[in-house]
Amino acid sequence: MKQESVSDWNWVYQQLLAQWGAQHWWPAKTPFEVMVGAILTQNTAWTNVEKAIARLESADLLDVGRILDSDDANLETCLHPSGYYRVKARRLRSLCAFLQEEGCAERPESLRERGSLPELRRKLLGVHGIGEETADSILLYALQLPVMVVDAYTKRIAIRLAWCEERVRYAEIQRDIESALMHGDVELRKELHALLVELGKNICRPRRPICSQCPLSRRCAYGVDQARPGN
Ligand code: SF4
Repeated sequence: MKQESVSDWNWVYQQLLAQWGAQHWWPAKTPFEVMVGAILTQNTAWTNVEKAIARLESADLLDVGRILDSDDANLETCLHPSGYYRVKARRLRSLCAFLQEEGCAERPESLRERGSLPELRRKLLGVHGIGEETADSILLYALQLPVMVVDAYTKRIAIRLAWCEERVRYAEIQRDIESALMHGDVELRKELHALLVELGKNICRPRRPICSQCPLSRRCAYGVDQARPGN
């Protein structure tokens, strides 16, 4: 990854953790609910995902077999609050069909026993509607495997810190972060991702980031520039 300055993701983690403390993600009751949430959160805010999950729960559909047996109208009504509900219903069914094929319908978290991390990642990426961010969210938060999740917030922050170029790819940022983190530390990856989301959502916003309140401003190229008189 071409960088304008040397990245230091451990420093980022320490700064954000000192500011906001541990986030204790992912907000879900079961590993399967994490998997469902990882699909439903595509292109929507988490508050909408919560509404859809609550509907699935009251319809007794938070279960691989019952989702596969449900009729389209029922499932789509449950998913309606999360947007793109037809697309997401198809994606959810694909995930459930995959879990069933793997023999994990009863205990979706047992997917962890069906291969190494790279093998499971490859399998998940082969499921309709599961891209890199969704696959890594499932691996990290549902299966407790040590892989960093990269999202739009992480990318924006890395670009503003001048640690990568605008056209950077998912795998490049992931490699850069992974090379800085302690091998195998699941909790560290969970917390770092959650803290980056906190920063990206509330402070390092797409427009008018609040650099004066940012724990990273001291070493941020964009933030230092913003603090110059006249800006
Ligand atoms: S200093 Fe500003 S631009 Fe840099 S990471 Fe913080 S909020 Fe984002």
